[in-house]
Amino acid sequence: MSFTTLGLSAELLRAIDEQGYTRPTPIQHKAIPVILQGRDVMAGAQTGTGKTAGFTLPVLQRLHATQSGNARRPVRALVLTPTRELAAQVGESVDTYGRHLPLQSAVIFGGVKINPQIEKLRRGVDILVATPGRLLDHAGQKTVDLSQIEILVLDEADRMLDMGFIHDIRKLLSLLPENGSRQNLLFSATFSREIKQLADRLLNRPELIEVARRNTTAERIEQMVHPVDKHRKREMLSHLIGSRNWRQVLVFTRTKHGANRLARQLDGDGLCSAAIHGNKSQGARTRALRAFKTGEVRVLVATDIAARGLDIDQLPHVVNYELPNVPEDYVHRIGRTGRAGNDGEAISLVCVDEHKLLRDIEQLLKRELPRVVLDGYTPDPSIQADPIQNGRNGKIRSRSRKQASATQQRKRSAQKASDPRYKSGSGRSGGTRKPSRPAQNHV
Ligand code: AMP
Repeated sequence: MSFTTLGLSAELLRAIDEQGYTRPTPIQHKAIPVILQGRDVMAGAQTGTGKTAGFTLPVLQRLHATQSGNARRPVRALVLTPTRELAAQVGESVDTYGRHLPLQSAVIFGGVKINPQIEKLRRGVDILVATPGRLLDHAGQKTVDLSQIEILVLDEADRMLDMGFIHDIRKLLSLLPENGSRQNLLFSATFSREIKQLADRLLNRPELIEVARRNTTAERIEQMVHPVDKHRKREMLSHLIGSRNWRQVLVFTRTKHGANRLARQLDGDGLCSAAIHGNKSQGARTRALRAFKTGEVRVLVATDIAARGLDIDQLPHVVNYELPNVPEDYVHRIGRTGRAGNDGEAISLVCVDEHKLLRDIEQLLKRELPRVVLDGYTPDPSIQADPIQNGRNGKIRSRSRKQASATQQRKRSAQKASDPRYKSGSGRSGGTRKPSRPAQNHV
């Protein structure tokens, strides 16, 4: 299957070719012909699937096909996005794919000066990409006219609702022309009751399109980050489990040693816990898992590889006590919850040392995880980041690093000999060496 069979114009095919795309992604394959026909679409697809081109290409084509020579062009297509970042990203795609078409676009979001946006709108825009709040500001100041919108796209509709934009969206919808006279496209990763209600109001006999997700986290998992100082993580975890009365929680550590120690400490706090990792015999792992499933053990502390195959029905809580070095492991970890249509919660306790790991994870997910500072756990801003330690031996992962690191290994051994942290397994170091690449988990 190539792009040429989808019914796209020569100008768009040229832009696609210049991007180096040879084949449409599944969402593009399914959505482009339907949107070109002018039908409404409700699509289950997330970032990473190629959804942006999936709607941008046919929207550009339809706008171009019915473009008038009118110098005072009204806005005819509106793409609403939940965040500034996504708006900017979609705006770039519109520019890229539309570069051989005589269409004008603009991106509008808050947090920046409004006057350049007003100026741009005044000069005439065919396709407008916007976040709801700033667009309403423009509508209020009458610097944008939405009465001629022919195509409306709600991108990442579920996130817009999560972020509380439903009232803004309702207000904006009231400024658009009658529903029967426009095409509506709704993209969402999840289909909650609220999304379905919105879709019912908005869409006319939509084509339903769903594609598999790629490198993304399960849809029913609520994710959150609690910033916390490293030495207070255990205390915070006990507090969370106790105060929220979690009965079954899977906790991830980076190292086997860390898993053992944490399970012991939690037991000491009165929370019945067990550890599973690669050093435990299969028998011990099976017993721990069985006890966890029956509720005898309340907290199961695991390393990444030990937890890979774990399939626990209706596991409600996953805690990243430490973030993984490899961002994909985050997706695997939290995929232990929210299975088979159940809701799940994934909480990450993140200290200053782990900010880079968190950024990598968010980059992979293409979304920012909400940070919630718990009362009494505000991180101490004077604490500086330390290099992440991986196990007591600080073993390393990649072959290239292995090859390059003989000297570093020697240096590290020397450093360990003089660093009390390696003896106690806790405390802070004044060490300055930062691994240039993530080191391997000891699992
Ligand atoms: P999106 O899901 O729209 O955020 O797109 C994810 C990434 O896939 C973007 O970097 C696009 O440039 C890229 N992409 C979109 N369509 C294709 C395609 N047909 N072939 C290769 N890459 C694509």
